Formats: sequence, structure tokens, C-alpha cells
Amino acid sequence: MAISKFQAIIECKCPRCKKGRIFTDSPFNFKTGRRYFTHCPVCNLKYEREPAFFEGGMYFNYAMNVAILVASGVATYVLLDDPNQWIYFGVSATMVVLMVSFTSRLSKSMMLHFFGGVEYDPKAEERYQNSLKEKA
Ligand SMILES: [Zn+2]
Repeated sequence: MAISKFQAIIECKCPRCKKGRIFTDSPFNFKTGRRYFTHCPVCNLKYEREPAFFEGGMYFNYAMNVAILVASGVATYVLLDDPNQWIYFGVSATMVVLMVSFTSRLSKSMMLHFFGGVEYDPKAEERYQNSLKEKA
């Protein structure tokens, strides 16, 4: 059974087959965690739909970072009982830096799922495998 669109976005899976990974490495690898495949390894969908396609993801990234800043600011206010302004700045900046790998990946995944113009196709993997067999 196929995963939901929401789960595919969170797990950074291909929007067409919902099986292939978008990114080559783990998000915990700060050096290579944001590298993505050019094509889906399962159904061969081209991920970068047009030149600089993923740059639109910065709007999602910006929204997520604002949410992180607000949440960390509120948490700092509640947990530390309204400390010095530099504590707010330090906590918020630390949270944004720690989450950059996740927000960056998630924003690219959201961009591909919402603006990629691709619908889920359960037969996509099978079609790609058959085309490989015909070439061989
Ligand atoms: Zn795919």
C-alpha cells in the first residue's frame, strides 16, 4: 500500500512513485545531507523540473524558520522566565542552525510535491523497469 502524500513529503520520497528517495544522504550528514538525485532511482522522474526549480523552496524554508524562531522564543520565555535578550537570540539562532538540514530538505520536498506538477502513479516503477528491460 502506498504512503500518503504527507508522509511522502516528510520522508522526502518521490512524488510520482512515493518509493524513490529525493536525497542521496542522511539529514544528519551536514556536508552531504542536502544533495539530491537528478532522477528518481525507482521511476526515473527528473526532480529538477526546470532550471533552478528548488530555489522556490526558500519560501517554505523561510516560513519554517520563522515558525522555529517564534516557537523557540516562546519556549525560552516560558521555560527561562523572560531572560536577557541575548539568551533569546542565542537559543533561537542555535535552533535555526541545528534544524537547517531538516528545513532545507523539507522545503525542497514540499516544492517538488506542491509545484512539481507530478501526480502519484502506482505503475510508474513498473513502466520504468520494463523500459530498462527493453533496452537490454
Ligand atoms: Zn519515483
